[in-house]
Amino acid sequence: MPRFRAILDTVPAYQAGKSVTSPDGRSYKLSSNETPYEPLPSVLEAIAAAAREVHRYPDPAAVRLTETIAARYGVPAEHVALGPGSVTVTQQLLATLAEPGAEVVYAWRSFEAYPLLADLAGVTSVRVPLAGESHDLDAMAEAITERTRMVIVCSPNNPTGTVVRRAELTAFLDRVPQDVLVVLDEAYREYVRDADVPDGLSLYRDRPNVAVLRTFSKAYGLAGLRTGYMIAAEPVATAVRKVMVPFAVNHIAQAAAVASLAAEEELLERVEAVVKERTRVREALLSQGWEVPSSEANFVWLRLGEDTAAFAAACAAEGVAVRPFHPEGARISIGDPEANDAFLKAAAAFRTRA
Ligand SMILES: *Cc1c(COP(=O)(O)O)cnc(C)c1O
Repeated sequence: MPRFRAILDTVPAYQAGKSVTSPDGRSYKLSSNETPYEPLPSVLEAIAAAAREVHRYPDPAAVRLTETIAARYGVPAEHVALGPGSVTVTQQLLATLAEPGAEVVYAWRSFEAYPLLADLAGVTSVRVPLAGESHDLDAMAEAITERTRMVIVCSPNNPTGTVVRRAELTAFLDRVPQDVLVVLDEAYREYVRDADVPDGLSLYRDRPNVAVLRTFSKAYGLAGLRTGYMIAAEPVATAVRKVMVPFAVNHIAQAAAVASLAAEEELLERVEAVVKERTRVREALLSQGWEVPSSEANFVWLRLGEDTAAFAAACAAEGVAVRPFHPEGARISIGDPEANDAFLKAAAAFRTRA
């Protein structure tokens, strides 16, 4: 037997959101925070055109995409680093600082990829429990030691949908030592409507230890193509580019991401429709008697405790796939109105079950 790293025996497998079908054939996937919309015609055209060129390697530096992102946000191109999904950019970040004994601090529960990525990188996870459903930034600051190399702040937080507001975040950043990287995971930024939630890009400019993660997978609807990026000061961006596997962002993904930024207005109209549905779904759940934390993302969170698995099964029987984290709660993505109605019906029935 070849000898493998011991961590592989204990590393948690990533549980992707599942699809389910009801006995009468209905299927609504509300388990992966995807957009319910198919790609725009202009994006499909860019994908088709790029497909004709896949006998060539992609541009390894993704110059066009990098420059388009830089222009969109008014940042230097040197501050942009890409990866095949922002999950992989997080992995690249960990690879830049994974020395024996290194620690990464993050809230828990938060994005389930964090423990997996930390384990794979050989970095020790320090999980700081949520206070209620939100980040406990005081406790996170206290969890920083001389071994801490990175802190991740996920806002809106996956899976609870809660946010970190401007005053508490800047106070936190002021407490973090300069040689500790703070990663603001803003995968759901486009869904935020609370004006007190800072845009990470306004914070990184005068803070060289702050990195902002964004993705094309959620609001921009390109989850299947895998493209994400980081915006940070040049030393951080350069380090992340160094550890990227050559050609990691493929040619079709680069073209589709450029086309998506060109079609941003149309895409953000879709985001607005999802935000309206988020309000409708939450209000319906509240009137059914559920407790639902206010969400700034494209999902809602129900803290179901020991009922979590039964709730997911009841939804599945109606063709609705949710994302259970038994025995804590379930995350339900906001889909199109028909899917959301199917979910609300299942939730109401569960609420009044015998
Ligand atoms: C979905 C998600 C991402 C983005 O993942 P990609 O790899 O870009 O598809 C990053 N962070 C969080 C918290 C997410 O929920």
